[in-house]
Amino acid sequence: MAKRATRRASNGTMNHRHGQDRGRCLRILRKLSAYLDDELSDTICGEIRRHLGACPNCEDFVASLRQTVALCRHKPVPPLLAGDRARMREAILLAARSR
Ligand SMILES: [Zn+2]
Repeated sequence: MAKRATRRASNGTMNHRHGQDRGRCLRILRKLSAYLDDELSDTICGEIRRHLGACPNCEDFVASLRQTVALCRHKPVPPLLAGDRARMREAILLAARSR
C-alpha cells in the first residue's frame, strides 16, 4: 500500500488547535462586552476565562478592549446638542442609502 505522506508539523503554528475553536471564538467575542461589564453569570465568565487562557488571539483582543473601555469610562461623554444629533442622523441615513 502507498504510504501516507507524513504531515510535517514542524513549524508548530497549529499546535493549539485554534481551527477547532473558531466557532467558540466568535461566540466568546460576542459575549465579551458583557463580560467586561461584569454582567455575565459565573458559568459564562468561567467559560470565557478558560477560553482566554487557551487562546492568545482572544486574550489580546480582550486586553485591548478592556483598555478602550477603561478610557471611555474615564472620559465622560459630553451630551450631544440637538443640532449635532440631527446632523449625525442625517449623515448615517445618507451613508446607509448610498450602500
Ligand atoms: Zn479564541
